[in-house]
Amino acid sequence: MSSDFFDSKENMAPKEREAYYDRRLSEMASIGYVKSKRVRDMFDKRQLNPSDMKTARDLEKLPVISRERLIEIEADDPPFGGFCGSTAEIDRVFTSPGPVYEPHLGEDDPLWARAYYAAGFRKGDIVLNAFSYHMVAAGLTFHEGLRRIGATVVPSGTSSAQLQVQLIRDLDITGYTGTPSFLHSIIKKAEETGHNVKNDFRLRRAAFGAEPLAPSLRELFENDYLIDTYQMYGATEVGDIAYECREKGPWHICEEVIVEIVDPVTGKNVEPGMLGEIVVTRLNNIFFLFRFGTGDLSSITVERCPCGRTSYMLNGIAGRVGDAVKVRGLFIAPSQLKVISNRFTGVRFQLSVFRKENRDFLTLRLEPAGAGLDYNELQKKFEDFFREICTVKIDKVELVKPGTIIEGDKLIVDQRRWE
Ligand SMILES: [Zn+2]
Repeated sequence: MSSDFFDSKENMAPKEREAYYDRRLSEMASIGYVKSKRVRDMFDKRQLNPSDMKTARDLEKLPVISRERLIEIEADDPPFGGFCGSTAEIDRVFTSPGPVYEPHLGEDDPLWARAYYAAGFRKGDIVLNAFSYHMVAAGLTFHEGLRRIGATVVPSGTSSAQLQVQLIRDLDITGYTGTPSFLHSIIKKAEETGHNVKNDFRLRRAAFGAEPLAPSLRELFENDYLIDTYQMYGATEVGDIAYECREKGPWHICEEVIVEIVDPVTGKNVEPGMLGEIVVTRLNNIFFLFRFGTGDLSSITVERCPCGRTSYMLNGIAGRVGDAVKVRGLFIAPSQLKVISNRFTGVRFQLSVFRKENRDFLTLRLEPAGAGLDYNELQKKFEDFFREICTVKIDKVELVKPGTIIEGDKLIVDQRRWE
């Protein structure tokens, strides 16, 4: 008989879980202090000993490290900013825009497996993995999470919707993992090409990551196509963080991470129920990144979930703390926009992202400076460079008259409403 839980950690009594977290955190601090120059410097500078890291609460003694800060640290001391021991055996290195370099966290971490298990994926499932396998951590880490629970994986990555439809049909695919937007495109393509998704396909389950699942889209998948949907939450720097169970309420926090909800200004923990920045420490002995600030806003609920898991839970994502904006699952960070701004001196621009037909739509307003410019050439150069830096494609460009964009205006405006 298959259990409702991935392992017994998910049912730890609160005291037991606390002791487990404390033990693993002290271990990470003492090993990190020896192996990582960055950790040693960070502790020494604050006159801290690894033995001062006794409980999760002690994390407040360390600074929160944002994605922006991590990019700087890694640029100063490539590739891992000294967070990794020089003798660490790393089987893979992933990169994400910034750039951020991340070592793969080893074979014994059940990355994403808890999420897939809670979503009902099992041995016998044939799952289409439509996360990118190219450079970024997504494809391979989600792949291994699925393998760990015994599912068969079809690594379709970012192949065209047409090809994904063919795979779903020919391989009797039972599950999908990827972004909700892409599943929506695949379904539309299937219908365009004469398929009846509900009757012709065995696709009955989907676990989404990298972008929020709009309630309207969830309703469409579940009601019109009988695809049971689940949300997974993580960050490329720290792996999986939380996931939905069959109750589809707040998200269970994974057993391999300590999640703090902090005031982004003070770095101190806020009370359960209060909104703050999600700060994550992944308990591991390879990449000693304490207190990664995700920039996402949420709150913690300490209530028990009817599913039987005893972990604390996150109340979804309330938005972004900073101005970094995620478009189609990819971050556009202020640092990247600055690089672009520096390349095109005198050219003002403003990006807007909004939702159109359940997909992120990115528009650019471009205000060229000076007369005698070849606008078409400028536009093309700008779009190409933008794509190179941010890896996101601009959907529409509008050339505007001088004086339209005011200096100091936001470089990117997020107009999406997740309703
Ligand atoms: Zn639950």
